[in-house]
Amino acid sequence: MSKVYFIENNTSNYGELSQIALKLLKKVEEDTNHSYEKEVPVKVHFGEKGNSTYVPEECYLDIINHLKAKDIKPSYIESNVLYRGARTTTSSHLKLAEEHGFTSVPIIIADGETGTEYDEVAINKDYFNICKIGKAYGNYNQFIVMSHFKGHEMAGFGGALKQLAMGFAARSGKMAQHSSVSPVVSEKRCISCGLCMEKCDFDAIRMVGTAVINDEKCTGCAGCIAVCPEGAIRNKWDNKSFLYNLAEYAYGAAKGKDNIYISYLINITHDCDCIGKHMNNIYENIGVMASKDPVALDSACLDVLQQMSGKEYFDKGRTTLEHAEKIGLGRRKYEIIKL
Ligand code: SF4
Ligand code: SF4
Repeated sequence: MSKVYFIENNTSNYGELSQIALKLLKKVEEDTNHSYEKEVPVKVHFGEKGNSTYVPEECYLDIINHLKAKDIKPSYIESNVLYRGARTTTSSHLKLAEEHGFTSVPIIIADGETGTEYDEVAINKDYFNICKIGKAYGNYNQFIVMSHFKGHEMAGFGGALKQLAMGFAARSGKMAQHSSVSPVVSEKRCISCGLCMEKCDFDAIRMVGTAVINDEKCTGCAGCIAVCPEGAIRNKWDNKSFLYNLAEYAYGAAKGKDNIYISYLINITHDCDCIGKHMNNIYENIGVMASKDPVALDSACLDVLQQMSGKEYFDKGRTTLEHAEKIGLGRRKYEIIKL
């Protein structure tokens, strides 16, 4: 049974939440004899432009200072997103991170300017043999993985597993999780600029009036989605395997790493922080949890929300937890240690 450490507190004061997170981190360090390497990136999510419920930098500062005091070099690490927006390329992503106040340590965007740089991590599981993980993640053996526990349209909820699966994957890895097919071009939106054809490394796009993708040549790298100025290229979503895909990519991202996972049960919204608008909370703030087992941590977050609210919020995500346990990422059974 894995241990999950929990401080229940409905505060919305970010300074207080930062102290709570540090207290939990220290407890995990102490109980697991965790020793750090010289550089430890902190995996975060900077929030989409216009989103107001992402976890802000203030919630991480005590942990950042704790690492610095130990002579460890912290940084923030993230990867570019699949869809078109302020976090699609490294340059615009860094600009948004700064606008959202993430300024205290250097930022690493792990998968290159347009999300095409990755390492293949072999996993040989039911849905994937390899995972395409952002290249810079390969430079480190440890991460502190910060997650915002909240809903997600396709996954049920977003927590530690989703942070690993989507947050560590390069663009083509994200694409592989969402879809097993090539993207499609909207004839209506396409202005025939040809940028996608120039970008495609696989000669899979031809201009026939508008851009047309050859499914046989397309590898699903999603590079064309990032460069289209009109947002004319979109994924064909494949819902069926998505919940299983997430578990397997989370496994690939965590493979061989010695991570500590911290989840903030605050600003719990129905949708995720990739939504670029203000959303109302569906439940009050609950507190912060930490563990070395991401499956136990997500299970505990979900159970506590459901028990406290009396509602079966985000239940769909249990499929991912089951599969993650089946493939050996962690355990769903946990012992809660309340501090
Ligand atoms: S980049 Fe977009 S607008 Fe330009 S040709 Fe390709 S699909 Fe059409
Ligand atoms: S997804 Fe990649 S391979 Fe497929 S058309 Fe777009 S750029 Fe080319």
